[in-house]
Amino acid sequence: VKKKASRYEKQASNVTQAAVLGAGIMGGGIAYQSASKGTPILMKDIKEEALELGLKEARKLFAKQVERGKLDTGEMAERLSNIRPTLSYGDFGHVDLVVEAVVENPKVKDAVLTEVEEMVGEDTILTSNTSTISINRLAQNLKRPENFCGMHFFNPVHRMPLVEVIRGEKTSDAAVGATVAYARAMGKTPIVVNDCPGFLVNRVLFPYFGGFSLLIEHGADFQRVDKVMERFGWPMGPAYLLDVVGMDTAVHANEVMAEGFPERMAREDKTAIQVMADNDRLGQKNGKGFYAYE
Ligand code: NAD
Repeated sequence: VKKKASRYEKQASNVTQAAVLGAGIMGGGIAYQSASKGTPILMKDIKEEALELGLKEARKLFAKQVERGKLDTGEMAERLSNIRPTLSYGDFGHVDLVVEAVVENPKVKDAVLTEVEEMVGEDTILTSNTSTISINRLAQNLKRPENFCGMHFFNPVHRMPLVEVIRGEKTSDAAVGATVAYARAMGKTPIVVNDCPGFLVNRVLFPYFGGFSLLIEHGADFQRVDKVMERFGWPMGPAYLLDVVGMDTAVHANEVMAEGFPERMAREDKTAIQVMADNDRLGQKNGKGFYAYE
């Protein structure tokens, strides 16, 4: 793990047009962040409703900036117009960097990444916002793996400063450099990490979620656990954080971690998190998780 991306410190971002695939929690956040810092971004999804939701979220965040006096309404309209929602790859020929942020499923990601590679120019950098899936694994089917790396944002994107830039075995220095520079242009703090399931942050976070799951399976009260962890000094407890992440996303991510580190992460029985997901308690995304949301 290289703690600093200092090798790339001086490089300015050459990304004048970005694109994000998926307009969900993360895709919508990435589009907002890019647009708000002045880089136009295409936001592609397969569902019209997802595009509408993504835009609605971005509008809400810009409106908050206006309320706080940080933007006027003209600036808000201008920044919002940096996000172009689309259901097609029509304009992808002019994109400098793509962030894939579709569901955390290796098969879906493989299909989407090989598809988009055909739609972009030869020099376009492809990145994945995967939480856990190995970048080398996702690079396997690509024609230009040297142009591919991980660009892992955290949720909520507009508030979390860190971005993990994950270097695969075949990733070129140029691709890492361009991704680091774009993350900086988005106002983020990039770190360059080597490839493994879960990278750095989720290798720490998912065993913690596993520990929390066991605690409540053994009878602990999740609200009390949250309160204790807040007292411990963390900004939020594990139950609330799982509601933010999304139970389905956490389950998919945990499966990948369990495959990569079976001795530490695999469970034969269902975790409490899996049971929550099975009962459609997905968290903030559908209004009910450990807590209820309006
Ligand atoms: P989400 O379920 O909110 O959104 C996924 C979106 O992808 C949906 O809108 C869906 O319609 C769209 N989609 C599916 N197939 C598509 C395709 N072929 N082309 C375009 N769009 C498609 O999921 P999310 O929480 O935003 O997660 C997205 C990615 O980000 C996952 O890889 C996840 O692991 C990662 N991630 C999530 C979090 C988190 O806290 N939720 C944090 C960091 C990274």
